[in-house]
This record gives sequence, structure tokens and C-alpha cells, in this order.
Amino acid sequence: MPLQDLSQSLHNCQRCKLATMGRTQVVFGVGNPHASVMFVGEAPGFNEDQQGEPFVGAAGKLLNDLLQLVGLSRSDIYIANVIKCRPPNNRDPEPDEVETCKPFLLQQIAMIRPTLVCTLGNWATQTLLERKVGITKVRGQAFYMKDFVLFPLLHPAAALHQGNMLEPLREDFKKLKEFLDRNTKPAEPTTATPTATSTVHIEPPQPTQMDLFG
Ligand code: URA
Repeated sequence: MPLQDLSQSLHNCQRCKLATMGRTQVVFGVGNPHASVMFVGEAPGFNEDQQGEPFVGAAGKLLNDLLQLVGLSRSDIYIANVIKCRPPNNRDPEPDEVETCKPFLLQQIAMIRPTLVCTLGNWATQTLLERKVGITKVRGQAFYMKDFVLFPLLHPAAALHQGNMLEPLREDFKKLKEFLDRNTKPAEPTTATPTATSTVHIEPPQPTQMDLFG
């Protein structure tokens, strides 16, 4: 199924209670459907719910600046959230909402086939790692999953709420840049298509990273 068909099938989703808790619209995701780098956040906030796009509010502006720092632009990447509807008053997603929406995030990943998935904050990281591990323990490191490499980063909203998190967030993006610099090859001019961007080629896992989960 093409990505657009999946988006269309969720257009008026009623699968969980968020459908009746004041959401304006389903916020499916946005960006390059051929991206080799994907970012995953938690859930739409007020602005995202209004505009129908992930990360368009204050956290999104900060994310844009951080992307620039690593040499990426929004048109190079794809961005989605774990939860596609805004929880009331921006409360945390509830387990049943994550369980209901997670299959659609996994389908997005399966269709886009990114090499690298950058998770922003605890929710996205724990959902895709399938482990209840704190973001502060795993941030800025590569985890070799079956189909992609997961790279957890602090959430930009955390830095907006706590000024002292801004520098650690920048450090995470610097580590991401180092990782991309080691693993990115420019697109071949002969094979380039209008949607082609640099591709991320990632070497097999280092045995040491297995130790993280003991
Ligand atoms: N925070 C998120 O996790 N996602 C958004 O789309 C906006 C803010």
C-alpha cells in the first residue's frame, strides 16, 4: 500500500478515544517519502493539530535549527509521531493510545524504509526500542535494530521547558552529525531523481553496543 493510501485510510480514524477528545484532525506525517532519515516525535500539540503537520510549533522551529546544524532540511527527511492525534491539554499519551497507533508508525517506517530513525524523547524511543529505558541513558547512541538504526535524541520541547536542556540537546545533534558524517554517501549524479537525497549507509553493529542492555 502506498504511504498516501495509508494516510487516507487514517483520515477519520476512530480507533481510540482521542478521536472524541477534541482533536481537529489526524496528523499523519510529512516529508520525503524516500527519505533515508526519519524523525519520530511523541504526539501532535496545539499547532500541529491545527495545521495537520508534525513539529510546526515552537518545538518544530527549534528542530529546524537543529536539523540545520547537522546539514539536514525538512525536505530531506520524513517526520511523524507515535500518536497521530493530539491528546487533550497535551497530556502524555496513554498506553492504549500508543498500542492502537503504533502499528501505523511501524507501517510508515516499513513503507519509507529509512536507514536511520531518530527518536525524539522518551515516548518515541521506548515505543520503537520496545524497552522502558530512560532517554538520558540511551541518547546520542546508535542502536542496530532489525531493519534500521535507531538514534535516540532528547525532545526539543524538553529544552523549551528547561533551558538547561538546550546544550545537551545540541550535543545529541552533534553526535548525530558525527554519525551521519561517518555513514553518508552523496547521491550518485547519474542515478539522481528529483526525490533522491544523500543516502545513509550504516555499517553492521559494533559488538560493544549490545552491552547497553546487558
Ligand atoms: N511534539 C511532538 O512530539 N510532536 C509534534 O509534532 C510536536 C511537538
